[in-house]
Amino acid sequence: MNTPAYIGRFAPTPSGYLHFGSLVAALASYLDARAAGGRWLLRMEDLDPPREVAGAQQAILATLENYGLHWDGELVRQSERHDQYAAVLDGLLASGMAYACTCSRKRLEGYQGIYPGFCREAGQARENAAIRLRVPERRYGFDDRVQGHYDQDLGREVSDFVVQRRDGLYAYQLAVVIDDAWQGVTDVVRGADLLDSTPRQLYLQELLGVAQPRYLHVPLIIQPDGHKLGKSYRSPPLPADQATPLLIRALRALGQPLPEDAAYGQPDELLLWASRHWNADLIPRTRTLAEAQLR
Ligand code: GLU
Ligand code: ZN
Repeated sequence: MNTPAYIGRFAPTPSGYLHFGSLVAALASYLDARAAGGRWLLRMEDLDPPREVAGAQQAILATLENYGLHWDGELVRQSERHDQYAAVLDGLLASGMAYACTCSRKRLEGYQGIYPGFCREAGQARENAAIRLRVPERRYGFDDRVQGHYDQDLGREVSDFVVQRRDGLYAYQLAVVIDDAWQGVTDVVRGADLLDSTPRQLYLQELLGVAQPRYLHVPLIIQPDGHKLGKSYRSPPLPADQATPLLIRALRALGQPLPEDAAYGQPDELLLWASRHWNADLIPRTRTLAEAQLR
């Protein structure tokens, strides 16, 4: 089989609508894939039904369509991949790389999110327990295409992290690694809010024996009031009739050139032009970008 040299993806979480910051990340991922002649996949990260906003999945798809961000192949939903996640977890438990943890939230108070390891050697039963991954005292790092070198001491800065919650929900860190590998993703382009998740993902890739993709983390867009445009920040859907101006704004945020003529036309034309002129080296090398500075 002939494997394409570039496979990118956009992986929204339907706990809200796409906001301007997600548009910037989606656009960067799309253009990087198109400029490379690669494929661009779409994966709905619907792992957490209680936090899902009704109608968000449909709204996200509609926005991508309206903004000309057409994906290749079938949409993948993580809610349909639980069997795969369960099989990987079984393997990690069997090899002793993961273990059951019955610590209550109260018991973990005062440790600043660093797990003190109470259940590491306790041999707890899996029933009604969270599953944690045993993490080594080692630095995991990588060279980001925009952010430069980034690393973390997983043992000290992260500690044994949860891959399945006590209520059965699979953790983002686990699912994202399994699915990026399964979909053959070569290039992850996403927001810089996920920079500090990447070392955990590198460790999981090593454990599972899968290839490490290249990474490009685009600056996170910050609201005038200092709010991060994050998952918890409720914003309305991006307006369908503002696709071209908002794409232009997103291109500006990414430091990209813009076509000369004032009439930029339809999103499809603009995106074709932008993919021909895409230069990832022009993306601002910062973690955050104030929306106010974009005009
Ligand atoms: N679903 C994650 C989010 O919306 C993104 C996952 C990723 O790109 O790795 O924040
Ligand atoms: Zn525990």
